[in-house]
Amino acid sequence: MASIISPEALVRVKGTSESAHTSSAPPGPNDWHAQLRESARSVEDLAKVLELTPDEIEGARRAELEGLPIAVTPYYLALCDRHDPTCPIRRQCVPRALEAREVHGDMVDPLGEVEHEVAPHLVRRYPDRVLLLATDRCAVYCRFCTRSRMVGDGGGPAPLERLEPALAWIAAHPEIRDVIVSGGDPMAMATERLDRLLTRIRAIPTVETIRLATRVPVTLPMRVTGELLDALRKHHPVWVMTHFNHPKELTPESIGACTRLADAGFPVMNQSVLLAGINDDADVLEKLFRGLVRARVRPYYLLTADPVRGTGHLRTPLAKGIAIMERLQGRLSGIALPKFICDTPAGRGKVPVTPDYVVAREPGRTVLRTFRGEEVAYIDPPEPAAE
Ligand code: SF4
Repeated sequence: MASIISPEALVRVKGTSESAHTSSAPPGPNDWHAQLRESARSVEDLAKVLELTPDEIEGARRAELEGLPIAVTPYYLALCDRHDPTCPIRRQCVPRALEAREVHGDMVDPLGEVEHEVAPHLVRRYPDRVLLLATDRCAVYCRFCTRSRMVGDGGGPAPLERLEPALAWIAAHPEIRDVIVSGGDPMAMATERLDRLLTRIRAIPTVETIRLATRVPVTLPMRVTGELLDALRKHHPVWVMTHFNHPKELTPESIGACTRLADAGFPVMNQSVLLAGINDDADVLEKLFRGLVRARVRPYYLLTADPVRGTGHLRTPLAKGIAIMERLQGRLSGIALPKFICDTPAGRGKVPVTPDYVVAREPGRTVLRTFRGEEVAYIDPPEPAAE
């Protein structure tokens, strides 16, 4: 692995129409291919940058052999605190020995995606939308990943021919209006491959929207090149669903990536996962959500961490998330406050979970509790008079 470059040293990528990798300049911090090539993938790579604890060394040794592999881009690794193992970025990307521990409720496939597969690489859990798992690769393998059963398993991006049955299934089901391209991370794929895939999806007349689920703006922001934007904007409406978890991830580079996406016409939505010891704090989340709105990214969901095998140390009780939402209600405007969501185990679908603001209900009158704790009655309108 090459030496690590501090985020401060990174030159901000401009929204040019030329991809970094086609430039004649030597590979540098803005070359996303070089970032992927030079990613940390072993204990030794991590130890060049971080003072690893015995717990992290044991976790990383295990990850080298089985389960979710290690991959951390030099950019994201440089956001980690070298000395502090409780650093919220480090906790997201450096394995720990605790990953070997199974706790009650753990599942290999918590969202029941295998059970809900309707064609190879295609998952349907809702009436009008499907999830297309186009690749197993990501720029960074997040230690809490819901798809740890399959990401980084060596398959790589699925060739278009292998996705044909999935595309044929979508074409045969006109009730599907929304295709979420995920993986792995679709933006970790070559631009040309992603472009061809979106062209095929767009050719299905009943598909209205395409969503790209990606952590690239967070972990590899220099990948959001002018070349990528030019390729993607041909397929509008395309929504970008990204995944910031902590305000430390809002760097000039990641904000630049979001700005370029917004300028190119992509609505950018953020899904955060509530993670123990990383962001399970109202002040931290308030800072994150405010920063996202400033970057024109809509905080869309705050998700409970899925009960993925080996992630019990990263999960929080549901009540903690409800208490955090209660503290944020009223403190943050509607555009900055995401919905708190529990994606129910076994793939039964997302459920919004809210603090209880209804104090009493009787015919025609409901007593509500405001964010200040006052109780206020809402009176229903009278029944319409019979004609
Ligand atoms: S980027 Fe997404 S799919 Fe990839 S490891 Fe992280 S959470 Fe999992």
